[in-house]
Amino acid sequence: MSSGKVSDRKLKEIEEIAAGWGKLLAQEAFPNGPGLDVTLVQMEEVAARACTAIVRGAIETMTGEQAKHFGEEEPCPTCGRLCPVMRKSRPMTVRGGKATLDEPVAHCPTCRRDFFPSATGAEVGRSRV
Ligand SMILES: [Zn+2]
Repeated sequence: MSSGKVSDRKLKEIEEIAAGWGKLLAQEAFPNGPGLDVTLVQMEEVAARACTAIVRGAIETMTGEQAKHFGEEEPCPTCGRLCPVMRKSRPMTVRGGKATLDEPVAHCPTCRRDFFPSATGAEVGRSRV
């Protein structure tokens, strides 16, 4: 499992990649270049829409990858009973946009409670019997 910290060097690389995408998006929006009638506000709208789409795609991909760490059953944090894990879509507002998280959630019939394996510190990759 990663430490959770992305290095400054890696973040700079990601910014350079995104800047390259910005150039491609500008060409996509205005294949012949923006005419003199295109305002800065209109250019900004194209860039802002692209940014929110990038945020959504990145957040949904990263949280989706995390959700794969959980098995079909996870132990209840209260009683330890293995409970089936389902997926629940949860729309969220995140910095720079909105994303829909595919969140693992389980219900313990013994404790009569729902729990989120991602919030209980469940170990990743542990073996099962
Ligand atoms: Zn329980």
